[in-house]
Amino acid sequence: MSTEIPYECYKILAQNLNCTPQDLRMNIEREISRFFYEIQKDYKPPFSVVEPANLAGIYKFRPVPFLNGGGGALYPNSLGERDFKILMGDEDPLEEKRFVVAHETGHSLLEWNAEGHKKVIPDGERYEDASDYLARIILMPAWDFTERAKELNYNTPELSKLYVCPKYAVEERIKDLGVYKFR
Ligand SMILES: [Zn+2]
Repeated sequence: MSTEIPYECYKILAQNLNCTPQDLRMNIEREISRFFYEIQKDYKPPFSVVEPANLAGIYKFRPVPFLNGGGGALYPNSLGERDFKILMGDEDPLEEKRFVVAHETGHSLLEWNAEGHKKVIPDGERYEDASDYLARIILMPAWDFTERAKELNYNTPELSKLYVCPKYAVEERIKDLGVYKFR
């Protein structure tokens, strides 16, 4: 089943993307894709996760041992309120590291309002789900993924290799886009 993004997330995202929450709710895939499309359109998979992070104001990435096992963190820097860095497990496979960068970028988009102030958002599973969803949009943009998944017959391991992202994320993305029904 597809991930439902909570309304508060739409509101904050809409402020970042400069549209109304209603528009965003109606066109979430299109709006987020448009946000990243300019930097992604000249690429083929795997898509950069660094550039979307930069676009969200994140320029530092640091692998650390204490997050091994698929963990990640969006870590503030005392130098400036938007000077964030992303931490991820140093021994995790590349696809896991990329998912972490995309997921934390999702948090960054969800947790900042248009004026650049940190929003107080309750730390809950819904926000994790919403960030996962944004991560999948970054890693597997619909304009590319929909056709290519069909060409590859929805083969999860092959798609995972091509997009350099975890298999579980590929499966969720196929469900997001409703292009294939799992039994
Ligand atoms: Zn998270």
